[in-house]
Amino acid sequence: MLHAFRSLVSPELSIVQILPQADKVVLVARPKATESCCPSCGCRTGRVHSHYMRRVADLPWQGRVVEIRLHARRFRCPDPQCRQRIFTERLPETVQPKARRTARLGESQLVIGFAVGGESGSRLSRKLAMPVSGDTLLRMIRAAGFDPPDAPRVVGIDDWAWRKGQRYGTIICDLERNRVLDLLPDRNAHTVASWLKRHPGIEVIARDRAGVYADGARRGAPDATQVADRWHLLQNLGEALRLALGRHRKAVSAAGKAMMAEMSGDDDANPEPSVETSPKLDGLRRSRRNQRSELYAEVLDLRTTGMSPRQIAPRTGMSVRTVERWLAAGGEPEHRRPPARSVLMDPFQEYLEGRWQEGQRNGLH
Ligand SMILES: [Zn+2]
Repeated sequence: MLHAFRSLVSPELSIVQILPQADKVVLVARPKATESCCPSCGCRTGRVHSHYMRRVADLPWQGRVVEIRLHARRFRCPDPQCRQRIFTERLPETVQPKARRTARLGESQLVIGFAVGGESGSRLSRKLAMPVSGDTLLRMIRAAGFDPPDAPRVVGIDDWAWRKGQRYGTIICDLERNRVLDLLPDRNAHTVASWLKRHPGIEVIARDRAGVYADGARRGAPDATQVADRWHLLQNLGEALRLALGRHRKAVSAAGKAMMAEMSGDDDANPEPSVETSPKLDGLRRSRRNQRSELYAEVLDLRTTGMSPRQIAPRTGMSVRTVERWLAAGGEPEHRRPPARSVLMDPFQEYLEGRWQEGQRNGLH
């Protein structure tokens, strides 16, 4: 069994001893080869110059850290013309020159680094008995080679906030691979156009309904098809619907009341129950209504100067959404007190009380 285990460590090494210790397993190993090649001239030689002990971390075993203590050798180059007279032997399938971890341990740690990053990766690696520092993990990630990504064909262009409400840039995504391709520092048509020119081959550009990206796409990729992306289509649809309903608020409200009356089974029912009023309360409501009217007039004034809701909001102390809602509705909203009781429950009130008195209180029967 031990022989089978030893053969798994590396085809280049003979494991001569296994030393279990309290916190790790030490494998004492020797290179199998009797000769080595000079890394400068490629001459093969068996002339050993000296020995030294090399410690290399390997994949964990039974949840324990594994250290290979390698009886490594230095060789003399047989070529008198070679500039490298002495060299350390190479074990390309096991460990890189000067590395302190085997290649396969490095691969596993790199996978962890890519998945969770430097410091988190370091903590996870320690738990998995493959300790490595966060800085080393980041170095390994930076040194790892990447395949150049395929040229994008379908991209999405949208704005994103460097700082919400203040500074915006542009994000470009590969919509076929669901991957961010680039972040541009601003949202100018010129910047988008020059990015598109540097990335030929784009066939479809999904964008918002604003003119800036349309202009940028037209200049940077004139042959690409421009489409409105789904999110902006739904947003525009929602705005149009809100605007249309806002214009017919009274009719919608009347229809709602009629429906409630029909559901309650009483055509003559007053859908808006009377609420207690007092002159003081009425005065307060009137004053608030006036304030809202003045605020709406101010919003309209700013709007006619060409300001967007985003610019109007901080000047009026309102949220951008409220400004948009008021403008879409064509006026400030009337605030109404909610009904004192649920009209919907009325037809069932008597039945429910009866059931309650019968002891049926869990809603299952
Ligand atoms: Zn040489």
